[in-house]
Amino acid sequence: MTDDPSSSRRDIFLGVAAGGLATAMAAPALGQGAPAGTAAPAGSAPALTNPLERFPKPPFQMQSQPWPALQAKMTPVPDCGETSYRGSGRLAGRRALITGGDSGIGRAAAIAYAREGADVAINYLPAEQPDAEDVARHIRDAGRKAVLIPGDLRDEAFCARLVEQARAELGGLDILVSNAAYQHAQTALADITTEQLDQTMKTNVYAMFWITKAALPHLPAGSAIIVTSSINADRPSQQILDYACTKAANEAFVKGLAKQVIEKGIRVNGVAPGPFWTPLQVGGGQTEEGLKSFGGDTPLKRPGQPVELASVYVELAASTSSYTTGQIYGQTGGVGWP
Ligand code: NAD
Ligand code: MG
Repeated sequence: MTDDPSSSRRDIFLGVAAGGLATAMAAPALGQGAPAGTAAPAGSAPALTNPLERFPKPPFQMQSQPWPALQAKMTPVPDCGETSYRGSGRLAGRRALITGGDSGIGRAAAIAYAREGADVAINYLPAEQPDAEDVARHIRDAGRKAVLIPGDLRDEAFCARLVEQARAELGGLDILVSNAAYQHAQTALADITTEQLDQTMKTNVYAMFWITKAALPHLPAGSAIIVTSSINADRPSQQILDYACTKAANEAFVKGLAKQVIEKGIRVNGVAPGPFWTPLQVGGGQTEEGLKSFGGDTPLKRPGQPVELASVYVELAASTSSYTTGQIYGQTGGVGWP
């Protein structure tokens, strides 16, 4: 289950909790099939596209992979903007650390950030090295620096080293995206072992605390912290109770920390996706049945592709969002928010 599939999908919501964000988001630099680059040539607006017809719909082919799943082995391979995202210098000279930047939503953010002019460090698990190297290639092709830092976020000492290495190799840090997560579906509470609970909490909550604590003293005024939450924070699916609790914690953290650190000129926001086609789903996060119909019960009748979130991560990081903090940006396929 994902971020949910089947059950409570109908009453999910979407939306923009951030008041003025929707208008600020008006021009995502997408142009399917257009050449990638750091700047869109004048007069090359993306073609008018029907969102219902864009991207694959269910039923999806049955598939599963051992955790952590590789994006390159999915059918279809998620679209993270590799051939379509076009930047316009919105993050020129910025320096970003993204956890879970090898695949899915974090990968879409990493590619977009680089094409907007930022240098990017990504963290991932050692088993995900092939996906990570592919992201690095896209970052370098955009003319930016890519820093690959594999390691397990459940280890507090590693989290501190991660921030330190990213900062040292990028020459500073002003965008921090806590995006990595663990999700494993269990139909009954009794099946959630303490080991699973520990893995979900450590990856999704502890690591967010550890990384943010390590980074904060070094973030200059104007920096942006972004946490990937989920629709499950507000509308938990019954099969991923442990995961849903961590996502509610993500949102409480965003809203509280935003008040604390605005004194330093640092903004903190969250992104709450609905169903997105990513490796999280095929590595145990979703049942095979749920995967088959994934995203089909949203008004858009399909899951989102990570590239459809790229411009949200760019907007929340960019200085143009200077009045946006303590907000959660919902992107759930048209179900309403909250
Ligand atoms: P994904 O599998 O592509 O990304 C998750 C990443 O987490 C992995 O690539 C992995 O590198 C990282 N990770 C997991 N455990 C780790 C550990 N112990 N140490 C280091 N890294 C670890 O899937 P995604 O869907 O793009 O997930 C990104 C974020 O989006 C997550 O926070 C997830 O909760 C959120 N989200 C996803 C959906 C969805 O439907 N896909 C919906 C709502 C929210
Ligand atoms: Mg991955």
